Amino acid sequence: MNHPKEGFRTVRELRCADLMAGCNFVARGKDDSEVMKKTAEHAKSAHKMAAISVEVEKKARAAIRDAGAFEPGGPSKA
Ligand SMILES: [Zn+2]
Repeated sequence: MNHPKEGFRTVRELRCADLMAGCNFVARGKDDSEVMKKTAEHAKSAHKMAAISVEVEKKARAAIRDAGAFEPGGPSKA
């Protein structure tokens, strides 16, 4: 992989609404595993899921996409 622009990073994101209708949560990360980690934490606290089942994980991974243009210094500082 090469990085055409210094400081530009492709970010992956998962919209919880793709899994749970009506939820506004969006998990962002530098790669799929970071997104999955945030999604798992969110699912636990917001949706009372003790653990992500294989089925839910499959759906979640399929729903992860490139977040596209990303402003440096923008979101995902948490
Ligand atoms: Zn949610």
